[in-house]
Amino acid sequence: MTISDFWVLATGILVIILVLAIYVYRDSNLRGGKSVSWFIWTILLGGILPFLIYVAVRSPYTKEELEEEKTKKEVVELQKKYYELMISKEVQKCPVCGEEVSADYMYCPYCFTQLKKRCPQCGRLVDKDAKICPYCGYIFEEKGVEK
Ligand SMILES: [Zn+2]
Ligand SMILES: [Zn+2]
Repeated sequence: MTISDFWVLATGILVIILVLAIYVYRDSNLRGGKSVSWFIWTILLGGILPFLIYVAVRSPYTKEELEEEKTKKEVVELQKKYYELMISKEVQKCPVCGEEVSADYMYCPYCFTQLKKRCPQCGRLVDKDAKICPYCGYIFEEKGVEK
C-alpha cells in the first residue's frame, strides 16, 4: 500500500464518518434528541458503531409524530370530558315541584325536597327511597323517607 493509497482510504473513511454523523445529527434533531452530542460521539467513535447504537436507541417517533399523537390524545380526553358533562347534566324532574334537577342533586333547589341520599359506606348518591345501595350493597336502616 502506497502513501497515496492510504490517504485515499483515510479520506474515504472520514467521509463515511462525516456522512453518518450528519445523518445522526439531522435525524436526532428531528426526533428531539441530543443531536449535538450524538454528532460528536459519532465522529469520535469512528462513525459506524455509534451510528448503529443511535439507530437502536433513537426515539421511534419524530417530533411531528409525537405532536400528532399528543393532539389525538387531547381530542379523546376532550370527548371524554364532554360525555361526562352530558351525563352529569342529564336532567330529571323533581317529583314534587316538577322543576328540572340534575341527576347528581341531593336536594331540589326549588322546593327543598330531598332527592337523593349519600350511601354511608361508599359515599355515592343513591335514590332517596333506596333500601339498598345499588353500588356497594349497603342496606339502609331507615326504610323509605329520610328527612
Ligand atoms: Zn322540587
Ligand atoms: Zn354504597
